[in-house]
Amino acid sequence: MTEYQAPLQDMQFVIEEIAGLDEISRLPGYEDATPDLVVAVLEQAGVLASEVISPLNHVGDQQGTHIENNAVVSPPGYAEAYRQFVDSGWQGLGKSTAIDGQGLPYLVHSAVAEMWYSANMAFALCPLLTSGAIEAIEMHAPEDLKQRYLPRMVSGEWSGTMNLTEPQAGTDLAAIKTRAERDGDRYRIRGQKIFITWGEHEMSDNIVHMVLARLPDAPEGVKGISLFLVPKYLVNEDGSRGQRNDLKVVSLETKLGIHSSPTCVMSYGDGDGAIGYLVGEENNGLACMFTMMNNARLEVGMQGVAISERAYQHALAFARERVQGVARGQTGRSTIIHHPDVRRMLMQMRAITQAGRALAYYASAQTDLAHHAESAEVRENHQRRVDLIIPIVKGWCTEMAQEVASLGVQVHGGMGFIEETGAAQYMRDARILTIYEGTTGIQALDLMGRKMLRDQGRAMTELIAEMKTLDAPAGNDDLAVFMAGFELGLEALEDAAGWYLRQAAEDPDLGSAVGVDFLLLAGNVTCAWLMGRAALAAARHIAAGSDDSAYPHKISTARFFAEHILPRAEAQRRMVKSGSVSVMAIDADDF
Ligand SMILES: Cc1cc2nc3c(=O)[nH]c(=O)nc-3n(C[C@H](O)[C@H](O)[C@H](O)COP(=O)(O)OP(=O)(O)OC[C@H]3O[C@@H](n4cnc5c(N)ncnc54)[C@H](O)[C@@H]3O)c2cc1C
Repeated sequence: MTEYQAPLQDMQFVIEEIAGLDEISRLPGYEDATPDLVVAVLEQAGVLASEVISPLNHVGDQQGTHIENNAVVSPPGYAEAYRQFVDSGWQGLGKSTAIDGQGLPYLVHSAVAEMWYSANMAFALCPLLTSGAIEAIEMHAPEDLKQRYLPRMVSGEWSGTMNLTEPQAGTDLAAIKTRAERDGDRYRIRGQKIFITWGEHEMSDNIVHMVLARLPDAPEGVKGISLFLVPKYLVNEDGSRGQRNDLKVVSLETKLGIHSSPTCVMSYGDGDGAIGYLVGEENNGLACMFTMMNNARLEVGMQGVAISERAYQHALAFARERVQGVARGQTGRSTIIHHPDVRRMLMQMRAITQAGRALAYYASAQTDLAHHAESAEVRENHQRRVDLIIPIVKGWCTEMAQEVASLGVQVHGGMGFIEETGAAQYMRDARILTIYEGTTGIQALDLMGRKMLRDQGRAMTELIAEMKTLDAPAGNDDLAVFMAGFELGLEALEDAAGWYLRQAAEDPDLGSAVGVDFLLLAGNVTCAWLMGRAALAAARHIAAGSDDSAYPHKISTARFFAEHILPRAEAQRRMVKSGSVSVMAIDADDF
């Protein structure tokens, strides 16, 4: 089993050349985020990821979790690894210093998180959910709850969860039934939640559940949902851990992948009612959840990049060792990496992964600018870009991860289908990414509706205008080929976007019917743009005298993207412009 090695050089390159660390470290509060510090942070995280967390990935997959005496038992080594993660302060890396975090840019957090997800995605979901719960509390909870819960959550001693889903309420949260009744200045929560990631475990000393529930007099639908903090153990006045709250794990789901992440059915209030505390205002819970949705979706997009990287590394190691056939130009039987078709698969995996990394880091840097730029107008401009691009990051990176993980199996031949090599695990683990935190269909609805129609295409027009400024110097064949492909892709995106904005009013099914095709088209072109910027930066380094082979390789990878991935944009344009007619032609009852 090959262990994960953090691709530090590419991460650093993308952070500096594409995401623009320079600009980020000029933002107020981020002055310490110098390139040297960022490299040191990435190196340290890389060691923990490859030496401690990655070796647990396969055993976690094979052994999974189970319930013993009402508690979830994690695979061997997990509790110790989590302890190391907490002791070295990783949970608070990107959190603000006001809540005892380390105050590093979100961009740096994202790069570090990529390593945790690559090393062991199921394990890393635990800190991810804690991070989401911290955000909800920091932004919306009253001061006393912040003081009582945040320090131990930011340190990682206490973990967090998100409790939205119920059997009848998945995508459609309006159907939530979990009840909350006022009891003095707190609430009693009763109901069942399903699919709760890391809902119960013993790695942390307490678990802080963020639970969506409905008050007895709440209006129907999404305007009647409130958000509550419901701890596994109540917390005493002095901050110490108190008695056990009235909640428990009922069972764990048996599932396709991420076996070592317990997916819990949770029961609240079988006795007197679980004690919960209101976060935000009554009936405004969904809005509180939405404020942290952007980051959560970006994180899942990053998981797509991370699992793609891991699958690529695994396939590459296999292709370098497996001897089969005689490749042209080789003497004797050769390793399969010499066969052009295997090279095509590896290039596809590499190009998609690097493009996804560029997209996700770019979105992370835009998030930093949207929150920390000095002028309100600049913050607003970056927020518009973030809002537009988040469904694309989530949708594109996770859909493409399916392709990359599947190619990883293919490179292995028959051994890819055999669990022993580990290639199949990445494919199984990746499969959840297009589902949780909003399916790809829901990302597409968000893109086509809230992000395109609502502002009549303003944010998309701005993005397209900026992409049009990409210009390569003459005299480099690879860059010339790249630019020719990129211009065609960009033209397809502009045409499809304009057509959609004109047609949408006449066809109410259009956004949902062709939204995923449009999202993938936008993702392909935006990724090509960022790969083009990467290639131009690499060309500048070469022109300045660098002989680092990473630079010509970046240019070749960008050219490959333009020649072998981006042509999909043309097909996607045609699919979008075919509209909803044939999608909706057969009646639901006639299927
Ligand atoms: C392993 C795992 C971990 C999870 N972790 C958590 C967690 O920690 N906390 C939590 O609260 N939830 C969690 N979830 C739940 C997850 O977020 C939901 O599964 C997801 O939101 C989809 O809901 P659903 O499963 O009910 O599917 P459904 O909503 O039933 O969707 C089924 C299909 O219909 C489509 N669809 C539904 N509505 C629409 C629409 N309006 N327009 C177009 N298409 C639509 C969907 O895109 C999908 O293809 C987890 C799920 C899994 C499997």
